[in-house]
Amino acid sequence: MDAPTERTRVKRMNKRGKYDADTVHGILDATPICNVGYVFDGAPYVTPTLQWREGDHLFWHGSSASRMLEACENAEVCVTVSIIDGFVMARSAYNHSCNYRSVMVFGTARKLTDPAEKEARLKAFTDGLWPGRWDMLRKMTAQELKATTVLALALDEASAKVRTGPPGDDEADYALPIWAGVIPVRQQILAPVDDPRLLPGVTPPRHITDFSFG
Ligand SMILES: Cc1cc2nc3c(=O)[nH]c(=O)nc-3n(C[C@H](O)[C@H](O)[C@H](O)COP(=O)(O)OP(=O)(O)OC[C@H]3O[C@@H](n4cnc5c(N)ncnc54)[C@H](O)[C@@H]3O)c2cc1C
Repeated sequence: MDAPTERTRVKRMNKRGKYDADTVHGILDATPICNVGYVFDGAPYVTPTLQWREGDHLFWHGSSASRMLEACENAEVCVTVSIIDGFVMARSAYNHSCNYRSVMVFGTARKLTDPAEKEARLKAFTDGLWPGRWDMLRKMTAQELKATTVLALALDEASAKVRTGPPGDDEADYALPIWAGVIPVRQQILAPVDDPRLLPGVTPPRHITDFSFG
């Protein structure tokens, strides 16, 4: 993956492009939200969903009745993940920007058919976000497993693009008395809220109280 392919080579602001596994994996691991792009009936769709990574594969899942998952099976897809780290405030509207980390992955999505493999991936997804949760839960039934599709995408063809730092203003504009800089942005995890039907005395485990990502 270290070298770009023709379609993953970042052309616009190419210095921001990165192709090494550490960078790509780090961004994928930093947020579970992705957008899956695919073609259905000749028209493009981009569907937001959750993703997780294991080794050099990315996975996403959902209802077996999902049109998105059906359309992606054995099809060419483009999956993106993006994280906004800051609004970059310049001295001109034109030079405003964002600090961000993003990834684009291209390839053919493969549907997992072996129930044991599917269950193992779903466990990894759950435990990846909330360590130890899978084994605390009521066991998944064969019917629930059947009703769930898991797709895999190899990270063979992926690019990352990363912007950091202050605005890049036109040299003459640095003489203007206009505030410029970065407004940092961070996603915040708030205190967990009990289900109103929680049994008395049931308290949240560590993977809930200590939950974080990014
Ligand atoms: C939070 C956020 C906000 C952004 N805001 C803007 C904006 O307002 N306006 C704007 O023009 N751009 C914005 N970008 C950058 C945008 O994603 C594109 O990189 C940019 O528009 C150039 O697109 P292009 O098709 O010309 O890229 P090209 O350089 O022609 O793309 C070639 C290849 O480079 C790779 N690539 C391109 N962009 C990305 C990316 N973001 N992440 C990973 N790989 C990439 C892909 O493999 C792609 O096939 C933003 C990105 C993020 C994450």
